[in-house]
Amino acid sequence: MDYDVIVVGGGNAAFAAAVSARENGAKRVLVLEKAPKEKRGGNTHFSGAVFRFIYDRVSELDRFVPDAERDYPGFHRGVQPYPKEAFREDLMRVTQGRSDPELAGILIEHSYDTMCWLQETGKMEFELALSVMGVRVGNEVKWPRGAMIRTAHEGVGLSRTWFKTAEQMGIEIRYETGAQRLTQGESGRVTGVVARGPDGMATFGAKAVVLACGGFETNPEWRLRYLGSPWDHAKVRGSNFNYGDGLKMALDIGAMPWGHWSGCHATPINAEAPDYGVQHLTDKTNRLSYFLGVMINVEGKRWIDEGADINSFTYAQYGGLILKQPRSLVYQIFDGKVLSLLEPRYSTSEPFRSDTLEGLVKQLQVDHKQALKTLEEYNRAAGRGGPFNPAALDGVHTDGIEPKKSNWAQKLDTPPFVSYPVTGGITFTFGGLKITKDAQVVATDWKLIPGLYTCGEMVGGLFHYNYPLGTGLMSGAVFGRIAGRSAARA
Ligand SMILES: Cc1cc2nc3c(=O)[nH]c(=O)nc-3n(C[C@H](O)[C@H](O)[C@H](O)COP(=O)(O)OP(=O)(O)OC[C@H]3O[C@@H](n4cnc5c(N)ncnc54)[C@H](O)[C@@H]3O)c2cc1C
Repeated sequence: MDYDVIVVGGGNAAFAAAVSARENGAKRVLVLEKAPKEKRGGNTHFSGAVFRFIYDRVSELDRFVPDAERDYPGFHRGVQPYPKEAFREDLMRVTQGRSDPELAGILIEHSYDTMCWLQETGKMEFELALSVMGVRVGNEVKWPRGAMIRTAHEGVGLSRTWFKTAEQMGIEIRYETGAQRLTQGESGRVTGVVARGPDGMATFGAKAVVLACGGFETNPEWRLRYLGSPWDHAKVRGSNFNYGDGLKMALDIGAMPWGHWSGCHATPINAEAPDYGVQHLTDKTNRLSYFLGVMINVEGKRWIDEGADINSFTYAQYGGLILKQPRSLVYQIFDGKVLSLLEPRYSTSEPFRSDTLEGLVKQLQVDHKQALKTLEEYNRAAGRGGPFNPAALDGVHTDGIEPKKSNWAQKLDTPPFVSYPVTGGITFTFGGLKITKDAQVVATDWKLIPGLYTCGEMVGGLFHYNYPLGTGLMSGAVFGRIAGRSAARA
């Protein structure tokens, strides 16, 4: 049977495309999901589901979180507007000015109206992301601007709602069906996909195909090839189905690679985390409160400014830097003053504990003498400036040590002292395909590939070196919606 639109993948970008295609007149829409039903949903299922988007007035958030003021008195007064310029500034700062300006413009410009579309058409429910984005200061909760709202039940809710909405719209979903190759007519137009399903090989014809099947983060051979060593040893935070299949299929027919192919998103995670994401653990292995303490490597040395910026703007880069430390192992160390401020996700593992720094260090697999020296030097240098404020760049810094700590550099002087071992876990890769503003795939002759569209992690050019929290899902939704509309019109 032939379809109007085939969407390859079962994550946020794929469903934004499938639902948009249906909404824009495509009658027969097919979603191919390589994973079995119980592992469906790609990285989207594992995500914290925080979305970064623009708003000029805080009241524009009311439609997503109508009870915010009741639940968190002072919400409207405390949250700063997040206009286009602020999103652009954040994106360009962390990507060292390299984010593709056209794609960045589309992402930013359409972020708010796509949130409204997710709510109305996608049937998403939203809530404030208290556990990861809210910081309690006294009796109030402080919120960062731009990225503080997530779907209810996080990625699990986001993914579940997408499948439900798609089914209600009559979109066909085939599980355990991995696309392997695109078919093309003599004109070069993409005419469908060849996939391996439960009953063997099958060819599905379509007027247009949207590739939305993730990056190559799960594939150790491609990670080594493009990211280098030791990425082939990295733990994978999310789906174990994203092997770069869609990228390969598109490159095989001449699609243009675009963006930062040696770059990826990786975060500090529990060193004992499983090798791949586990459905029920979702993103709970993250260890992102490092800015409140210090990190030492197995040589017993600090090696980075833990307080360089708000963690939403450093976490996606620090995972890779941790991975490159000796044995890809680092210890986060905190004192009693900040334990109540650690993200709730820390409660999913037991830390090392002691009433003295010496007693703590002895339990870690580090050079003990050097580690104690590092912590004593840090304590002599720390505590300059202030006052301490976990909700803002507070300027509490160190003096006279390398690397310095620029913010939140309180002394480690209050027992109990605790330490969490962490490694770097890969989330997704940045390298992708070049697309037009209509999400159509461009070939290496700079012409368009008729009938082929892409979205989500497969889009190249947006992220380089680093990434501002909450942008992956927003990008998937914005470009998925555009890709679905373009595919329906094709
Ligand atoms: C632990 C974790 C937490 C995160 N938290 C956030 C967050 O809070 N905010 C945010 O913005 N981003 C977050 N992200 C990133 C975000 O999840 C991704 O950017 C986003 O989900 C990517 O969507 P996607 O649809 O492109 O890919 P995915 O959601 O990964 O979907 C890819 C789909 O393609 C399928 N597939 C793969 N190969 C084939 C094939 N050959 N044929 C058919 N199907 C195939 C997969 O099974 C999967 O269903 C997080 C990621 C992780 C892992």
